[in-house]
Amino acid sequence: MTSEATRERTLVPLREGMFRTPGRLDSPAGLLGDRCRNCGEAFFPRRVFCAACSSGDMEDVEFPSMGTIETFTIVRQQPPNSVMEPPYAIVRVRIDNGPSVQTVVPAEDVRGVGIGGRAELLVRRLKEDEAGNTVVSFMARPIDQQER
Ligand SMILES: [Zn+2]
Repeated sequence: MTSEATRERTLVPLREGMFRTPGRLDSPAGLLGDRCRNCGEAFFPRRVFCAACSSGDMEDVEFPSMGTIETFTIVRQQPPNSVMEPPYAIVRVRIDNGPSVQTVVPAEDVRGVGIGGRAELLVRRLKEDEAGNTVVSFMARPIDQQER
């Protein structure tokens, strides 16, 4: 029998197809989106038609995990059914050479959040499911404004 501490839990993404299936927690999360071959606009999640020019000539891409925080808000009270513990931040991150995406910064990293700050998207633990798997999603971690 394996102890709880050493047992490898299976990582299950909250939604399939959002990012490359991760091997381990806290690894960079390359989001899966696409780019229009006609006009170059990037999208996440994936689309069949370009929202900018209506072309159907879309190329599947994996975006870089680095980006810049465009805006944020701090959540200080836990919404009903939320698994995030306040205070956490809802942030909009412009992925390098990619689209702008909304995600969260967990409480442990929230003090480093600032507009214009750099952030990395990481595979983070959300909760355990009934089968004992670890449900993961992508979350942002500020990388150059953290207080030490
Ligand atoms: Zn287009």
